[in-house]
Amino acid sequence: MCGIFGIYNHNEAATLVYLGLHGLQHRGQEGSGIVSSDGSKLYSKKGMGLVSEIFKDDNFSRLKGISAIGHNRYSTYGESIIENVQPVVVNFAMGSLALAHNGNLVNASFLRSELEVHGSIFQSTIDSEVIVHLIALSRERTILDRITDALRKVKGAYSLLILTEKEMIGVRDAYGFRPLSLGELNGSFVLSSETSSFELIGARFIRDILPGEIVVINNNGLTSYMPFDKANEAFCIFEHIYFARPDSCIYGESVNIIRKNMGRELARESAIDADIVIPVPDSGTPAAMGFAEGSGVAFDNGLIRSHYVGRTFIVPRQSVRDFGVRLKLNPVKEVLKGKRVVVVDDSIVRGTTSKKIVTMIREAGASEVHVRIASPPVKYSCFYGIDTPTRRELVASRMGVEDIGRQLTADTLAYLSIEGMLKAVSTSPDKFCVACFDGKYPIPFSEDEINQLGLFDV
Ligand code: AMP
Repeated sequence: MCGIFGIYNHNEAATLVYLGLHGLQHRGQEGSGIVSSDGSKLYSKKGMGLVSEIFKDDNFSRLKGISAIGHNRYSTYGESIIENVQPVVVNFAMGSLALAHNGNLVNASFLRSELEVHGSIFQSTIDSEVIVHLIALSRERTILDRITDALRKVKGAYSLLILTEKEMIGVRDAYGFRPLSLGELNGSFVLSSETSSFELIGARFIRDILPGEIVVINNNGLTSYMPFDKANEAFCIFEHIYFARPDSCIYGESVNIIRKNMGRELARESAIDADIVIPVPDSGTPAAMGFAEGSGVAFDNGLIRSHYVGRTFIVPRQSVRDFGVRLKLNPVKEVLKGKRVVVVDDSIVRGTTSKKIVTMIREAGASEVHVRIASPPVKYSCFYGIDTPTRRELVASRMGVEDIGRQLTADTLAYLSIEGMLKAVSTSPDKFCVACFDGKYPIPFSEDEINQLGLFDV
């Protein structure tokens, strides 16, 4: 998962990156880092926790310079320790370099073992450090060629920001798995995982970085390169379902509108006689509004979310995750009492959240609880940067919809179909990666990788 944000040539570079990262907090809450450049040296500040907890006033005077990049971490690879917080900063033959990565590499372990055999010493356990080693080891002469050379060796999903003393470089892998957008603020270029962070700092959205594109930003302006072989686009549909903010435009489309469309499609496929439609806030809200519109059943707020706890999932330990659900949501008894309730959520992953929610709604006096999920059953793990680690943990890989409904203690349960989900987007359906639903991974895996990643273990 993770969020990345950078700005080139602005007097308030580090402060603007701080604000940008604030707007990307939902993409990772484990740790954050900002690296700035004053044209001859890089300065770095990293920490564990939320953006606002890490960066205080005195840090900004330390983060000198007119260019900066930043990263919010959510671990999809590597442990939750300070050494793994990005940007990764290194000194090598050409000077200093900082790298911030959103995505997940599928051949990182192989490359790492190979690099270690040849003497590389790793400082972290993250896959992104592999890219930095490959850049340092490349025999190419320019930084652009070294980056290209390094990225030709890695397999997987990456949207990257790289900062050297003199340049800021943005890269999106040839499949375009993760988003990366370009903006502009008073003549300074800005790069962000999501467009909502542009609005936050008053920047103007220019365009998305293209799949397979490298943009080099320096004193001569922006130059675009397309050095990689073309691949079939594989935009992550889960960004639209759950991960991105609804006030962002991802892959050229409004996340909020798409989530509403998904809710409408879901109502078309599996409407039910009920008194009220309620969302699981916040991520289920646009889909629930769409469902209410599509089914003609009244929308209400039956669950109130505390905004002072993070996303349930964001803490990797199951024990804390379980506790988090109760901390986060509280039922509104007056809304639910005696009602036939449809509760709409964006997705079911492990199934633990939904079960607690159904129980909560029933205990608040609902006479019926119908669960509607605005995405298809998540049956396969993601290896491209969304945190769905093992198939064993995915409830839909172990049981069918009826059994899941029984486990949730719901009166009925229905998911959106894959076709319905793809009807909700205007972009051509074959441009999306839907591997978490159908197991068709866009990048073919070798036999060794299948064993290593436990791809088909249930
Ligand atoms: P559960 O079914 O208990 O695993 O929780 C599913 C809920 O977590 C959904 O309602 C989503 O809002 C949210 N969610 C879905 N996918 C993810 C993910 N990959 N990482 C974090 N949260 C997620």
